[in-house]
Amino acid sequence: MINKITIIGAGVIGAATALTLQQRGHDVLLLDRERPCAGASFGNAGAIVNGSCVPTATPGILFDAIKMLSQSHSPLSIRPSYLPKILPWLMRFIWQSRTSAVNNNALNLHAISQHAVPSWRKLTQDTSLSKFFNGKGWLKVYQSDQAFEGTLSSRQLLDQVGTKYQCLNAAEIHDLEPHLAQSFKHGFFQDDSLNVNDPQLLVQGMVDLLVKRGGQYQQLDVDSIQERNGVVQLKGKSGELLSHKVVIATGAWSRGLAKQLGDDIPLESERGYHLMLPESSHSLISRPIVNGENDFVLSPMNKGIRMTSQVELAGLHAPPNYNRIRKLLPLAKQMLPQLETHEESVWLGHRPSLPDSLPVLGYSSKSKHVVYAFGHQHLGMTLAAISGDIIADLLSNKTPKVPIFPYRANRFGWHV
Ligand SMILES: Cc1cc2nc3c(=O)[nH]c(=O)nc-3n(C[C@H](O)[C@H](O)[C@H](O)COP(=O)(O)OP(=O)(O)OC[C@H]3O[C@@H](n4cnc5c(N)ncnc54)[C@H](O)[C@@H]3O)c2cc1C
Repeated sequence: MINKITIIGAGVIGAATALTLQQRGHDVLLLDRERPCAGASFGNAGAIVNGSCVPTATPGILFDAIKMLSQSHSPLSIRPSYLPKILPWLMRFIWQSRTSAVNNNALNLHAISQHAVPSWRKLTQDTSLSKFFNGKGWLKVYQSDQAFEGTLSSRQLLDQVGTKYQCLNAAEIHDLEPHLAQSFKHGFFQDDSLNVNDPQLLVQGMVDLLVKRGGQYQQLDVDSIQERNGVVQLKGKSGELLSHKVVIATGAWSRGLAKQLGDDIPLESERGYHLMLPESSHSLISRPIVNGENDFVLSPMNKGIRMTSQVELAGLHAPPNYNRIRKLLPLAKQMLPQLETHEESVWLGHRPSLPDSLPVLGYSSKSKHVVYAFGHQHLGMTLAAISGDIIADLLSNKTPKVPIFPYRANRFGWHV
């Protein structure tokens, strides 16, 4: 039997793509090597930030990064043993921090992120999934004038692309979040953003809905992909299958599969951590709040507050260093004095990132039967529904609502 469309990877991107394709009338098979939502989608902060457009590489990032690496609570770390391996990616990343590249990347990020919230609403309307979403916005808070002034260039990028936000004073922050320490003088607020109160249950719910509506879910660790005469063959240790079209949505693990098809895509893991705080803390905050000075997020989840942070460049295989997130606990307590800082659990995840902070969305440059949907870096939760919409349009021979040239697989030549 030859399947019609097979999606590899049941993270938020693969699940949203599968569900959207099914809504357009396609027969789909969703695969994962583990249970659904075993990757980065399991433990993120759940923020869906409409119009988010600031790429990670911005002017001055090299100097900022050098400064950060010497700080005790640095949000960035690079394992020395991984430096030789990641150097080519880092060089491309630094190249993307030129003003012209940043402006371009911001425009292209905004082109998709402006559809983030409407696409999620469309995908989940009239389903039981809508219960996972809250609509209280996305708040960043700053204690010092200097730190807030440091966000000027990011705010200018948002102004340039037309993303709506408000700057708040201390009283306005307090009105929104009365349990926050009084020391926060400046706030940055996007009131049209959503947050998900349990990303794992949301993705599992999407897979359950897919199956309930007649789609299939199967466990297979795909280690080989080949296309011959218009049929794609997927092989893993536990079996093999054939499909007319395949979507690769394997997050940070996508590079190897794309390479087998002949696309060498500079995809890296930006490792990040979370630490769960007790359920009793849950009602202390109403929305995800970013500590602007120390780059961590406190996000309200069904089972407590989730603290997320860190960009660790150490590849997919190095063991976790949970002290990177644990050492932020005193800062979280300063931010939210009533917080109970008992650690319920810790977790490490892999953000799939390209140097320009843009995902890869579109056909493989080598095959008209394989489509890529990966590389959503810090914004996979945000961009999942619109990415699914774009891929479903492509596979339905419709023009996607966003022109996809900027997200093509072969945009990185040897010189960029
Ligand atoms: C700490 C942290 C906080 C974050 N916070 C946010 C946030 O607030 N908002 C936001 O928008 N984004 C956030 N992100 C980013 C977001 O989580 C990711 O961009 C997103 O989850 C990526 O989804 P994905 O489906 O591409 O990958 P994943 O969720 O990693 O899924 C990939 C899936 O593919 C499967 N797989 C891999 N290889 C194979 C194979 N060979 N065969 C079969 N299956 C395979 C894996 O098992 C996995 O289930 C955060 C990330 C981290 C780490």
